[in-house]
Amino acid sequence: MTSTDINLTIPLPPKVARRRRSAETIRKHRLPTCPTTGKIRYRDHDQARDGLGSTTERRLRVESEGFTSRRREIRTYKCSFCAGWHSTSQPDLRLVHDQSRREEQELIQQRRETGAAIAARIFAAGARA
Ligand SMILES: [Zn+2]
Repeated sequence: MTSTDINLTIPLPPKVARRRRSAETIRKHRLPTCPTTGKIRYRDHDQARDGLGSTTERRLRVESEGFTSRRREIRTYKCSFCAGWHSTSQPDLRLVHDQSRREEQELIQQRRETGAAIAARIFAAGARA
């Protein structure tokens, strides 16, 4: 290279240094967690439903690819500790209770009907005798 060489390359504009997001900034963008349960805290029912929707979608995709997912969330609920919303894999015990009570009532009703039918048969047999 001699001093007469002309540099024809067009200098590139200086790269703008992209500021790395601090851990604090990244943390702020994530959803907060409940201080009591440690679960992801959704601010309202809609956000919780969206969250549950994406979790379910992800699980179905993973399973359709032949993998197993441990995510089993089935419903959302309002947290009495943080007043936010969480998702859970546990069935609603109030509904389970209602269901078992309904089933119990049906069973009692069936037994009553059976009892009445037996009594009617005995009565009829007695009347014939
Ligand atoms: Zn909570």
